[in-house]
Amino acid sequence: MAGKRPTVKSDGGNRVALVTGGNRGIGYEICRQLAGKGLTVVLASRNAEAGRAAAKRLLAEGLKVETQRLDVCSPISIRAAVKAVVKRHGRIDVLVNNAGIMADAHGARVIGSNPAVFRKTLDTNFHGPLLLVQAVVPLMLAAGYGRVVNLSSGLGQLQGMGAGTPAYRISKTALNALTATLAAETRGKGVLVNALCPGWVRTRMGGDNAARSVAQGADTAAWLATLPQRGPSGGLFRNRRRIAW
Ligand code: NAP
Repeated sequence: MAGKRPTVKSDGGNRVALVTGGNRGIGYEICRQLAGKGLTVVLASRNAEAGRAAAKRLLAEGLKVETQRLDVCSPISIRAAVKAVVKRHGRIDVLVNNAGIMADAHGARVIGSNPAVFRKTLDTNFHGPLLLVQAVVPLMLAAGYGRVVNLSSGLGQLQGMGAGTPAYRISKTALNALTATLAAETRGKGVLVNALCPGWVRTRMGGDNAARSVAQGADTAAWLATLPQRGPSGGLFRNRRRIAW
């Protein structure tokens, strides 16, 4: 659908959104939905070529997104990406920490798991978002506006915590805690920080048998990314509703 893109009206500006892991899966769909809402979207990917190919597909739908190389496991890459986006736009209004991995071996349990899998998973799913919020949220605070959206998972909920995929679960619990403490730190300053579970979504991670489409999986993230100023902060959401940590 070509044509003029609508502008963001709810919070009154042409917001700039940075989405990690935007080249495929839920991240790609988040880019699609945010571009459709009129935001200026920076589709970040660790593989520049994959990012450009994804942006080209969106362009074919009439949605213009920019691309940026960003490996969330590399502090140098994170710093360079944030610097490049700020140089281009002077701001980052929305940060979507979407990039993630599930690296646990099939049937993995805490006992017997390789600690290296925990390190790699925490590096990607927790330290990446941590370094990104440390780089981006000060800019948001200075501007008095920001939306941080962390792609978490029901597998990270402490309530009802079960066995299996332990590294992934723990990384998402840590991401939830980061969400809650950062939200407390930024309360009343125009920066809203939330996490969500997208549900079980048909992507490379979720597999073909997953119940939900990427459009359904991305909906709550796009909603949190464009919350009005009096919207919630410090919550974990699924289907736009708050769920227990
Ligand atoms: P996916 O299809 O496996 O896509 C993962 C994305 O993350 C890819 O773009 C991948 O890039 C990127 N990525 C991985 N490591 C990266 C790194 N070091 N730097 C930058 N990008 C990196 O996963 P998905 O299903 O879309 O999941 C997206 C988010 O939703 C994840 O945080 C996941 O934990 C969460 N989630 C998913 C489900 C589900 O059912 N699918 C359920 C709950 C939560 P490459 O293409 O380069 O590998």
